[in-house]
Amino acid sequence: MSTAANPPDLPPIEVPCPQCAVPADQESLRCPSCREDLAVLVRLRYAGRIDYNEALAQLRGGDAPAAQVLLRRALTTEPDLRPALALLADLTGARVAPAARTEAADHTDAAARTEAADR
Ligand SMILES: [Zn+2]
Repeated sequence: MSTAANPPDLPPIEVPCPQCAVPADQESLRCPSCREDLAVLVRLRYAGRIDYNEALAQLRGGDAPAAQVLLRRALTTEPDLRPALALLADLTGARVAPAARTEAADHTDAAARTEAADR
């Protein structure tokens, strides 16, 4: 599953199987022992970095406001997620800067809407 992609500067994903106490396989996110699918546990434990990955995807798609919402959510779940902190700082810095983009107001509205829908 691509959501397991690991940002740099972070320890590897480690979620033990509740039954076997064996860590989930990094690639398949299944227990190597009983083959239980541990993806849901991984998602709970690492929701922050999954949001971070999603934010990167939004950025690649050009949706910076959506990326910011995802980064804030990521930092709510994992406050120490340094790549997310750095990226959010970059993004908010870029927004304060006098960007010559006429659709800046639209972006702000979109961000507010997404954030409200998130609650
Ligand atoms: Zn197991």
